[in-house]
Amino acid sequence: MVAQYHHSLRFDIDRCDGCMSCMRACPTAAVRIRNGHAVKLADRCIDCGECIRVCPRAAIVPLTDHMADLSKFECKIAIPSPALYAQFDSEVFPGMIFSALKQCGFDDVESVSPACDAVTIATELFLNEYRGQYPLISSFCPTVVRLLQVKYPELVDQLLPVLAPREISARNAKIRKARETGLSPDQIGAIYITPCPSKIVSILEHPGMQQSNLDAAVSICDLFQILAAAVSRVQETEYKIDAVESASGLDWSFMGRSPRSLPAEDTLSVAGLPNVMRILDDIEKGRLRKYRYIECHACPEGCVGGCLTVENPYLARGKAIKLQQNLPAGCMVDRREVEISYRRKEYLMDDYLTGRPLRPLDDDISRAILKMKERDRVLAELPRIDCGACGAPSCRAFAEDVVLGDADKELCVFYWRRELATRIEQLASLVKTQNQAIGGQP
Ligand code: SF4
Ligand code: SF4
Repeated sequence: MVAQYHHSLRFDIDRCDGCMSCMRACPTAAVRIRNGHAVKLADRCIDCGECIRVCPRAAIVPLTDHMADLSKFECKIAIPSPALYAQFDSEVFPGMIFSALKQCGFDDVESVSPACDAVTIATELFLNEYRGQYPLISSFCPTVVRLLQVKYPELVDQLLPVLAPREISARNAKIRKARETGLSPDQIGAIYITPCPSKIVSILEHPGMQQSNLDAAVSICDLFQILAAAVSRVQETEYKIDAVESASGLDWSFMGRSPRSLPAEDTLSVAGLPNVMRILDDIEKGRLRKYRYIECHACPEGCVGGCLTVENPYLARGKAIKLQQNLPAGCMVDRREVEISYRRKEYLMDDYLTGRPLRPLDDDISRAILKMKERDRVLAELPRIDCGACGAPSCRAFAEDVVLGDADKELCVFYWRRELATRIEQLASLVKTQNQAIGGQP
């Protein structure tokens, strides 16, 4: 029995015309085309949003929260992803965006930079004491965590068990606001302003934690228009320069922010799912043991390339780097205090991370082995050109669907054409035999 997992997107069959773009783009073979529409295989989907990027009909809907959904909270605190700042021109400072977020309905905004600095220190401390298998793999990107759980379960033990900055920010914001207002934690909503759908899933079901400190997520693209309008009002009246975020906080919006204290030759940074998978393949083969830490972002260029952003990832990265030049460069937290909290395990996940089993061919091991043989037999009958016309992304995936009872072999046009030819031949031979039997012409 496979556990049920939360997901952050749904396929709208009224809009989908079955063009197969999403099926071809999905890195985990989680999409099938059935009855002319795309459907998602829940055990395989890692919420990477690659399908959202390629769908020409906007038929894949991210399940983010909307401002109206947040009215259940007495107090709403926005936790902006550092990628949010990179959506604006570099003369728009984070303080202006803080004011604009308040105009958009948030009661408060929490800076993420102190948490980024604290997590960087916690990562360094963990790495200094770690004695297990190298390299350690970053865990701040929920899609990368799910990718490992689904496709590379034997590497899950190498995921860094340090919490992501957004979780630390949300925890700090709620403690601060409860102290300021006297409200109970459940009356305070910590709302992530997210560049991608995978953060939504990590709120519903956080790997390695009993419960996320975040309560909801609003996408950058949903908020952008009203936020940009509010920013232009703020620009005329308020902040010119401010210190609510730091240059090191913005580092987290794009690839290449590996702990500064580690020698460059000990670390690698990689962004974009195909590249991440190439690196994970190499780790699996034991080729990268000389590295101590590998920073993996599922999106191109890092969070600035999330599919729920509005700016081109390369331009956004450039804007973030330019903005960094005008932000404070120093660390926003006291290293001693972070070390004390780290010793109290306040920056570590509560639980070990584990793999996420895909749906087996059968729950019974001996039947599963028989089905594996059957799958290979079906596969041998298929042309192995992965044309997709059957509604599966590859002949191998189709053979598995057939054995699982989810697809009929005759959906393969090549198989069907061969079957048809065989049947026509059989029919012709039958007609010939009958004609001979009644003394007619062959
Ligand atoms: S979100 Fe990613 S894994 Fe899930 S169906 Fe879309 S492309 Fe596939
Ligand atoms: S990309 Fe997928 S969801 Fe979008 S129209 Fe094509 S088959 Fe349908």
